[in-house]
Amino acid sequence: MIQLKNVYKKYPNGIVSLNGVNLEINQGEFVYVVGPSGAGKSTFIKMIYREEKPSAGQIMVNGLSLAKLKSKRVPYLRRQIGVVFQDFKLLPRLTVYENIAFALEVIETSPAAIRRRVMEVLQMVGLEHKAKMLPAELSGGEQQRIAIARSIVNIPKVVIADEPTGNLDPDTSWEIMRLFEQINARGTTIIMATHNREVVNAIRHRVIAIEDGLVVRDVAGGDYGYEA
Ligand code: ADP
Ligand code: ADP
Repeated sequence: MIQLKNVYKKYPNGIVSLNGVNLEINQGEFVYVVGPSGAGKSTFIKMIYREEKPSAGQIMVNGLSLAKLKSKRVPYLRRQIGVVFQDFKLLPRLTVYENIAFALEVIETSPAAIRRRVMEVLQMVGLEHKAKMLPAELSGGEQQRIAIARSIVNIPKVVIADEPTGNLDPDTSWEIMRLFEQINARGTTIIMATHNREVVNAIRHRVIAIEDGLVVRDVAGGDYGYEA
């Protein structure tokens, strides 16, 4: 479902962040992306939801060729991709409910159906009782749960997460990982950049290591592979 062929990315400042990446990720896989800071992990993640464009090479996501994708078709791509960030990126002036409803692509959906869907994902992350609160009134772990609820409200085929546990304490990180496991168990592909070696070594999945813009390791059920 996701395919990169010879993907190369040079930023306008001359930095080459991806230097010929070839990869294939199938529907339903759970993939960790690991590697040192500055290796190109975030750039790789941004390529998939078309936050950045490759300088050369091809990227296919759900049958869409991203290099050729017109700007006006980007929303169509994003509807199929949920994104979760280290710093949550909730809209601060909207309530929890509104943050999720806002992300819902409303195509001939009745207000009652919207409400049902938002409450359903809030229930899935265990925070339906906080629907009326503002993000700042929640803990970091709760904010990340809301961000995860937002990421799945459109029932995407893939959820991409860039260091989703990077700002969270270990207990909270395990809870967040359990949610990703549940989402993956429903058939959603998960691609997660992470520095969390405990998590990677305990909950085994495919590990792709990137260094200096190149895939240097790609192992099913692999370990984190770097010293603490
Ligand atoms: P990682 O996520 O593994 O830390 P990044 O993909 O963020 O790596 O960065 C890879 C390289 O590209 C780094 O050298 C970084 O400084 C550079 N870089 C990242 N984003 C930009 C940008 N928007 N403009 C210029 N250089 C960037
Ligand atoms: P930007 O202009 O900063 O690129 P976007 O318009 O891409 O912002 O996104 C607006 C908000 O929606 C951001 O907070 C971003 O985190 C979130 N977002 C974007 N795409 C998705 C997605 N596919 N799934 C979930 N959240 C998303």
